[in-house]
Amino acid sequence: MKKSITLILILLLTAVSFAQDSKFIYATMDAADAVYFKTLHPDEMTILASNDYQAAVFISEEVTHSIHDNVTTHGPGYIFRSSKEKALEALERVEPKKLLIDYTITEDAFVNECLDLVDGQKIEDVIRVLEDYGTRYHTRPQAEQAVLDLQTRWDNMISAAGRTDIHTRIFTHVNTPMPSVILTIDGANTPDEFVIIGGHIDSTASPSDDDAPGADDDASGIATLTEMVRVLLAKNFVPNRTIEVMAFAAEEVGLVGSDEIAAKYAVDGVDVAAYVQFDMTAYKGSAEDIYITTDPYNSTELNDFLMELMDHYNGSGAHAFTYGTTICNYGCSDHASWANYGYNAAFPFEAAFGEHNPNIHRAGDTFAFLNNTDHAVKFAKLGLEFLIEAAKPQILSVEDFSELAMNIYVKNKTLNYQLKNTASNVKQLEIFNVAGQKVFSDALNNASGEVKLEHFSQGFYISKFVLENGHSLTQKFILN
Ligand SMILES: [Zn+2]
Repeated sequence: MKKSITLILILLLTAVSFAQDSKFIYATMDAADAVYFKTLHPDEMTILASNDYQAAVFISEEVTHSIHDNVTTHGPGYIFRSSKEKALEALERVEPKKLLIDYTITEDAFVNECLDLVDGQKIEDVIRVLEDYGTRYHTRPQAEQAVLDLQTRWDNMISAAGRTDIHTRIFTHVNTPMPSVILTIDGANTPDEFVIIGGHIDSTASPSDDDAPGADDDASGIATLTEMVRVLLAKNFVPNRTIEVMAFAAEEVGLVGSDEIAAKYAVDGVDVAAYVQFDMTAYKGSAEDIYITTDPYNSTELNDFLMELMDHYNGSGAHAFTYGTTICNYGCSDHASWANYGYNAAFPFEAAFGEHNPNIHRAGDTFAFLNNTDHAVKFAKLGLEFLIEAAKPQILSVEDFSELAMNIYVKNKTLNYQLKNTASNVKQLEIFNVAGQKVFSDALNNASGEVKLEHFSQGFYISKFVLENGHSLTQKFILN
């Protein structure tokens, strides 16, 4: 789709009369779709303004259903706007400068330890809990209850892990009675840089169906996010950047929850390094496993990074799976909200365009239809790879790093060290695991010595020697 900043104002006809019994909303939608739906529903729709990419519209509830059912493969196909001004403002929005993130793959050992822990049964458990609420439509009380219960589930996981650097909060919305819930893992070194993943916890049914268990759409995404958190807690992961996990309200009625949150982050000037959406992870409908959506509002850089991660970690071996690319169209899912505010956003999807779960938005969107979590497990793995490599484990401050300044070697589970410059002594030795957690600390007073590490498990560690002169020396070592 081409983008143009040229606004074509279309004058409102004063004589337009709307159906009396229909509720109207302001929204933005694909510009070409807007023209098409205007011909289908001339009295139910007004195009307020448009550019080459999107249109600001005033549409009836019937039109929103018509768009939802006919346009896109997944999402509502429009983005709710709370007023005419907000709809017009969305067309004029200038993309803010994106935070530059240095995408690198450096955490092999730790990532692979995490991938080994992903458990499909845990994903199934959460999907089954969510589908048991019945329809989680945003105006129903059980939708709010599902959010509050998910917060309790996350809180219990955090307190069981004994973590005080992780917390949850409820985000209350203006345009829906349903709240969203956000889990935050504080970044140890650069807490002002955010790496965010999310999915929507509401569900919807087509008008003919009054039940929408929403097992795949999107209990599967929420369950997949929860499994990522479980694994990171099990490995005591301390990130360098702040990680947030979000379960959004009211995605199905125009990305309402995610739009309000992304708008607040943009107004507050929050540096969101990257946003990745998990919406439908459990149905394998295409030849490949994960499909990266390449709509123009998605970040090409971030998409490339996700594909590099899969090339690196999932090309072969125990965690192998395949990927392809597809498109999902305007307002496809909550990542579009983040993209609207100029953030780098991506959306790995369960299948190619049109080959996704045929039962979504119906009573048949159940776990029984999905049958297993083999597909969702792959998304949990990609999500972990992304979180760990994008947020990075805690980086230890190194004031005077030089490999020449200190000799270390490990033999028979004993760390031997020798300071080359004997003008200063070592006064403290600290050892950290690959997750950045301190696993050893001892006061010393010498220039060389040895430390027994018999109780340590195999793997990479980082030694930090603090010297009398206040400098510190850091070196990585492997324990066999
Ligand atoms: Zn969805």
